[in-house]
Amino acid sequence: MKTGVIVTDIQGDFTELKHGFLAVKETDQCFIDKVLTATKTFKEKGFALFATQDWHPKNHISFYTTHPGKKAFEVISRNGKEQVLWPPHCVQGSEGAKILLDGKLFDAIVRKGTEVEFESYSGFHDDGGNQTLLHHILQAKQIERVIIYGIATDYCVRATALDALKLGYQVVMIKGLSRGIGLETAEKAIEELRRAGAEILESIDSLF
Ligand SMILES: [Zn+2]
Repeated sequence: MKTGVIVTDIQGDFTELKHGFLAVKETDQCFIDKVLTATKTFKEKGFALFATQDWHPKNHISFYTTHPGKKAFEVISRNGKEQVLWPPHCVQGSEGAKILLDGKLFDAIVRKGTEVEFESYSGFHDDGGNQTLLHHILQAKQIERVIIYGIATDYCVRATALDALKLGYQVVMIKGLSRGIGLETAEKAIEELRRAGAEILESIDSLF
C-alpha cells in the first residue's frame, strides 16, 4: 500500500523556538530537530511528503483582533460552531508563517485558512467547505495510507487526521512528533482518533 506523510503546520508562529505568536508548549529546538530527522528519514525511504501551512489574511476571522472587544482565547459562537479566537498568527508572507523545514523535502505544500471568513484546522478543507488540493494530490499519487504529525495535536493534526479517515485513508498518527495546545485536549484528541480508526504510534521506529 502506498503511504504518504503529512507534516502539519511546523511554522514559526506555533513554536517556542521562534517565539511564535501562538507558541505551543514543548516546541523547542529539540522538538523541531526530531521532526526534521523523522521527515528526512521518510524522504530517504522514498515516501511522498506533504506539508500543510496555516496561511491567513491579516483580518482573519479566527483572530481576536478581528472582533472588537474580544480577548485572545475567548470562544465565540459562529454559525452554530464554536470558534476559538486566537492571537494573530501565520499571516500570509510573514516570518512566523514560514515552515521551519526545508521546502525541498516536500512534494507539495498545501496552504489553508486563506479565506478571511473561514477557519481551517483541516488540511483538506475549511469550515466553509472549500477544499484544498490535498485530497486530489494524494489520489493522483495513489496514496491509500497517510502518516500524520505536527502542530497542534488537538486542532490541526486532529482535524486533518479525522478528515483523512473520513475520506477513506488509513491513518497513522505519530504522537511523539506532535504537540498539543492543551494537555487534556491533546489526550482527548488522540483518544478520538484512536476510536475513529487511526493507529497511534509514539515514534516512527516501529514503521521500518
Ligand atoms: Zn490558524
